[in-house]
Amino acid sequence: MSTILKERINVTKSFIPPFEEYMGYVKRIYNNGWLTNQGPLLGELEFQIAQRLRLQNFHFVTNGTIALQLALKALDITSGEIITTPFSYVATVSSILWERCKPVFVDIEPNNFTIDVNKIEERITSETKAIMPVHIFGYACNIEVIQKIANKYSLKVIYDSAHCFGSCLNGVSLLNFGDISTCSFHATKLFHTVEGGACVVKDKNVSDKLELIKRFGHNNDEHSCLGINAKQSEFHAAMGLANLPHVKEIIKRRKEISNLYDELLQGLVQRPKEQPGLSYNYAYYPVLFKDEAQLLRVLKYLNKNDVFPRRYFYPSLNKLPYLDDYQKCSVSEDVCSRIACLPLYCELKNDEVFEISKLIKEVL
Ligand SMILES: *Cc1c(COP(=O)(O)O)cnc(C)c1O
Repeated sequence: MSTILKERINVTKSFIPPFEEYMGYVKRIYNNGWLTNQGPLLGELEFQIAQRLRLQNFHFVTNGTIALQLALKALDITSGEIITTPFSYVATVSSILWERCKPVFVDIEPNNFTIDVNKIEERITSETKAIMPVHIFGYACNIEVIQKIANKYSLKVIYDSAHCFGSCLNGVSLLNFGDISTCSFHATKLFHTVEGGACVVKDKNVSDKLELIKRFGHNNDEHSCLGINAKQSEFHAAMGLANLPHVKEIIKRRKEISNLYDELLQGLVQRPKEQPGLSYNYAYYPVLFKDEAQLLRVLKYLNKNDVFPRRYFYPSLNKLPYLDDYQKCSVSEDVCSRIACLPLYCELKNDEVFEISKLIKEVL
């Protein structure tokens, strides 16, 4: 057992704002008695995020999964094929299936694990309705080429930008691309509201529709379309308002830790390639091992020493057992077999990073 590591270290640990700061907002809820339904704190949070990231038509919703489902609904996509990536969290694909569409997998490129734009066109059919790429780990997809393809075939683009809060491409937030871009504010994400998510909508009419369907599809007694409840509460907004002023320091600390890992693990593990123009948010610290056997050896040794990285992402989503068919994606399947994310969160101490790196070195 390592002597430096005093307690279990997980892949992440939620940032929690100072108690008084959160309670300051909760007091406002107690004073005005407004608990949910587009309350003042939610409005304030939406305004602050939209201003900070320079976003228009920003909708706060209950979580990042519902955000994807609302995106499909708001764009009237209720059947057909959606082109997506097999390298993501399961919610990307489950939201497509839940909306009764068929996920069509396009393999990823090995440098940043985003969808391989050279393989998209060959998968387009008369049934294709949209492309749903993921800016995985906060790395940017090839936005320009994806948009060109979408224009050529009249397809919608929905970006799953769950990891993107704080990532900018040439000064523009990654949440600012596609017909709709979604985000997650789950407790494990860089900026969180305990549970939460968002949709950023390009077209004002689609935005109005999304606003309507996220609250049951009616305005007072006028019921105009089928809706659902995707509203977020004032208590969640309070957590967001308390966390938001800390985002800068959160990203700064994550960058320090990532740089330290870079230094300590140089040459031992493979890392994603740096992307020109990307100002990265350091949402994750993924490393690729030589093969699955090596990955498993490292994980076993770290676990024995109370360190718990995660196999993000595993398995490759084209291998989910409840899919109708198997669509081969060799690059994603290979990456999934040997990738893991190392512990990365604000409270992680330099000593702990040294120790984790030392343990990894011992196995390699
Ligand atoms: C977290 C995540 C989601 C789902 O977000 P929730 O807020 O947990 O519903 C969707 N896609 C990706 C890539 C994610 O990491």
